[in-house]
Amino acid sequence: MTKHFYEKEKGLLIVISGPSGAGKGTICKELLKNEDNLEVSVSATTRQPREGEVEGKNYYFIDKEHFLDMIGNNDFLEYAKVYDNYYGTPKDPVLQKMEEGVDVILEIDIQGAAQVRANFPEGIYIFVVPPSINELRKRITERGTEDEEQMNKRMDCACEEIRNATKYSYIVINDKVSLAAEKVRAIITAEKCRSERL
Ligand code: 5GP
Repeated sequence: MTKHFYEKEKGLLIVISGPSGAGKGTICKELLKNEDNLEVSVSATTRQPREGEVEGKNYYFIDKEHFLDMIGNNDFLEYAKVYDNYYGTPKDPVLQKMEEGVDVILEIDIQGAAQVRANFPEGIYIFVVPPSINELRKRITERGTEDEEQMNKRMDCACEEIRNATKYSYIVINDKVSLAAEKVRAIITAEKCRSERL
């Protein structure tokens, strides 16, 4: 059947990765402002909540047994063990939103992104990097949520993650949040205009 230009499009799947402290979360918050056709998926994690984090908003905080049950039930679009904790994207809400025409952002690590890419090659894969490694260390230190050991682990992983950046279609340097969010917005707009999507 011929597809009409005015037919309601399925929502886009936008994957944003980058080292802890690169500012993915802040960029996503900025993107959501004045945007009602975009949602950020809420992941499940076995990590303990940080001060101020809200159940069902930042994450679904669940125990390891519950997480493993969800893996067994095939409830995740992807999942990975990151810094000793499990993180996963509940599948049904994401697929449902996309079906409704809503664009969905997954803010996930590189292992999870690789799993998603295998099933959704048409997704938009964006890697966010800090302007420098020193700036990254400064941001994680200022956040003050990690102890020395966790901090070093995150810095080691950051270097490993950045080596994988070229697997992503887009790399956004987060020097200034408003500019980085503007770049991501431009990427999404351009992707919507791709001839093969029409
Ligand atoms: P944090 O503990 O700082 O909230 O997150 C640690 C890392 O886990 C970040 O790189 C974040 O992007 C990643 N992450 C968060 N949710 C998910 C998820 O559902 N799946 C995967 N694979 N990684 C996630």
